[in-house]
Amino acid sequence: MSLYLGAHLPISKGYQAAVRMALEIGGNTFQFFTRNPRGSRARALNLKDIEQAAELARRNDFGPLVGHAPYTINLAAVAENTRAFAVMVLKEDLERLKTVGASYLAVHPGNHGGQGIEKGIDNILQCLDLILTEPEGVTLLLEGMAGEGTEIGFRFEQLKEIYDGVKHQQRLGVILDTCHLYGAGYDIRDHLDAVLEEFDRIMGLDQLKALHVNDTKYPLASKRDRHTNLGEGFLGVDFFVQLVRHPEISQLPLILETPGDLATYEKEIAFLRAAATTQ
Ligand code: FE
Ligand code: FE
Ligand code: ZN
Repeated sequence: MSLYLGAHLPISKGYQAAVRMALEIGGNTFQFFTRNPRGSRARALNLKDIEQAAELARRNDFGPLVGHAPYTINLAAVAENTRAFAVMVLKEDLERLKTVGASYLAVHPGNHGGQGIEKGIDNILQCLDLILTEPEGVTLLLEGMAGEGTEIGFRFEQLKEIYDGVKHQQRLGVILDTCHLYGAGYDIRDHLDAVLEEFDRIMGLDQLKALHVNDTKYPLASKRDRHTNLGEGFLGVDFFVQLVRHPEISQLPLILETPGDLATYEKEIAFLRAAATTQ
C-alpha cells in the first residue's frame, strides 16, 4: 500500500530543497504555491534544479505533487479584467507545473462577489474553457470550499456543475479539504462514509484526486475556513485516524495545511503514518 503524506512547503530555495524538506518531515509528496500567494510574479524556473528534484523524488517513491494557485485570482469575478488576469495566471501555472513535473494544480473556484452563484459559475466556465484549451496536460483541481463570504464550491453540486460545463473534462478533478468540508456542513467527523457516498453519487469518487488534511477551529456548518492542528479542533484525533485508514482516501496524496513549523508537520505526518498502519 502506498500512502502519500506531505505538507504545504515553500519553494523559495528551489524544488530540490523542497523535496529534501518533504523527506526531512517524513513525507513522500508535497504542495507548493506556484507563485507568491498574494502577488502575481512567478520566479524563473531552474531546469537543473527541477531535474535533480525529480530524481530525488523518484528515488524516494514520491506520490503526485500538487501546485496551489495564488489566492488573489478569481475566476468568478464580476470585473472582466480580473477574470482575464486569472486566466493568464492559471494558463501560465499549468505550463510551469508541466515543466516541474507536478500532476495537479489546485485552485479555489472563485468568489461571486454578490452577483450570485449561478452568474459566478457562468464566469468560471467561460474562464476554464480559455484555460483548458488542450485535451492533455496538468490536471486542474477545483478545491471544495467552506462557503465563507461569496465563495463558490462549498456544495458538491456546484463542483459538478462546473465540471459538467467544461469542454475538456479530462483536465479537471477535485481536491477536498477536511476543514472546508466540515465548515460547509458535511459531517465527515461522524458520517464520513455517508459524505463520501454523497460525493460519489454527485461527482464520482474517481474525480477526487487529493485531500487537504486540516483540523478546524469552528463547528459543523460554520462556513468558516480556519485551519488548526490535527486533534486540536472540532474534527479531533479519532477522525484523522478514521480518515487515513479509509480505503477511498488512503490512496490519495494527503497534504497538511496546518499552522506551525516543519517540526509540527513532522509530528502530524508521523501520527498519520502510525494511524494508517496500526489497526
Ligand atoms: Fe486551498
Ligand atoms: Fe485547502
Ligand atoms: Zn482553507
